[in-house]
Amino acid sequence: MKVLVPVKRVIDYNVKVRVKADQSDVDLANVKMAMNPFDEIAVEQAVQMKEAGTAEEIVLVSIGPEKAQDQIRQGLAMGGDRGILVHTDDEVEPLAVAKILQKIVEEESPEIVLLGKQAIDDDCNQTGQMLGALLGWPQGTFASDVAKEGDKLHVTREVDGGLQTVALNLPAIVTTDLRLNEPRYASLPNIMKAKKKPIDKKTPADYGVDTALRLTKVKVTEPPKREAGIKVESVAELVDKLKNEAGVI
Ligand code: AMP
Repeated sequence: MKVLVPVKRVIDYNVKVRVKADQSDVDLANVKMAMNPFDEIAVEQAVQMKEAGTAEEIVLVSIGPEKAQDQIRQGLAMGGDRGILVHTDDEVEPLAVAKILQKIVEEESPEIVLLGKQAIDDDCNQTGQMLGALLGWPQGTFASDVAKEGDKLHVTREVDGGLQTVALNLPAIVTTDLRLNEPRYASLPNIMKAKKKPIDKKTPADYGVDTALRLTKVKVTEPPKREAGIKVESVAELVDKLKNEAGVI
């Protein structure tokens, strides 16, 4: 079974995000970038499936700048077999990403596409679902457990008030939630080995996909600064403040 794992290069989750002075976007100048954390979980899941003998080949794909190769290499060092970089320096919205992935799926014929549930830069939570719709494939989103049972894929999802398990026919789309697993760190020997694994270079035009933006960003602003707290002397004072100052009770 072949597993395709799309990995996005995003701003590192430890970085304090700055907004450009003209409020047009987040400032990415000299900012540390990394693999989207949910995509690391997807790579880890694919590697565990390979170790268990359920998956034979893991193909990683990233759509982004030349430097997105770093994120593909990280996935290769974790246990991926080969990569595809779809090179573009432009911003690409989820629909265009899904259309490119659709073409790659048609070429590669994986049985599972394992995506992150959301990219932490745009927080869209759209690509996996759009890809499912374009391909007409079943999907198990927000997976906290994935298991191959016979010819079905069982995906356990965290829903309000408990866990829901769905059985998917293959081929299928799975998107990962935070508690699915804890991604491994790549060892030095594996990082060295990953340098020799192949990465194919493509462009959106190779797949005939128009990546022109359909949305206009009106404004990006920082969240309001948190104000310092105060100590109250008594429960009565607390209740009074909650009622008359905060207006929450
Ligand atoms: P989003 O819908 O933007 O929140 O992204 C959801 C998931 O789609 C991510 O976790 C990735 O697995 C995948 N994805 C989105 N954009 C890209 C990209 N440019 N390159 C590779 N994978 C992507």
